[in-house]
Amino acid sequence: MRLILLGAPGSGKGTMAADLVKEYQIPHISTGDIFRLNIKNKTPLGLEADTYIQQGALVPDSVTIAMVADRLAQPDCKTGFLLDGFPRTVEQAEALKVMLSACKCKMDAVVELELSDEEIIGRLTTRRVCSSCGKTYNLDSNRPLQDGICDACGGALYQRDDDKPDTIRQRLANYNRQTMPLSDYYKNQNLLVRINNEGEVGSSLPAVLAALRSRA
Ligand code: AMP
Repeated sequence: MRLILLGAPGSGKGTMAADLVKEYQIPHISTGDIFRLNIKNKTPLGLEADTYIQQGALVPDSVTIAMVADRLAQPDCKTGFLLDGFPRTVEQAEALKVMLSACKCKMDAVVELELSDEEIIGRLTTRRVCSSCGKTYNLDSNRPLQDGICDACGGALYQRDDDKPDTIRQRLANYNRQTMPLSDYYKNQNLLVRINNEGEVGSSLPAVLAALRSRA
């Protein structure tokens, strides 16, 4: 199964991705996570990406596309993968098409999660992430058992710099301008599955799975 997960920052992609990779036993490829790991490890890629990420801007296509091509060439992606946070522009989608045609494969579906801007801002400002394993929490709807500590690994929780209100507004504006056109792009290719993700965290998984099953 080859899937793309589309949705504004804070639309619930992380949770949905975790559920889908478990369901289909495929690798989860989150460009944001790969950048954050590189920033943490102070690699040249991380140093280059950091300035853009801090401003809520997109990392240049030349850097991002090469990074994804490299990841998709790994053996664990042979039979499937879930892309989360990529593509984010039509140019990236075109580059992905070239990567896929090189291996004579194609996407099965593009799942788009919809949520109002108001709900997104609320979810992002209360989001906390484990500095050690990356697990995500929410101070309103999914609190850790002990304040500031990850239930899974005991790591310290932190607020991402780009989850502060000014940067969130910038990221949403970027999403609407640069990434929203992908919705029509994939709809025209008959790949789009659009799901309203307003309810409780995790509650739209059955609707996504049913929609994917009906396409198979
Ligand atoms: P995310 O965790 O998906 O919200 O990504 C965090 C940040 O990483 C974004 O705000 C961008 O700065 C950068 N980023 C992630 N994916 C991409 C991409 N496909 N193209 C460019 N920049 C990206």
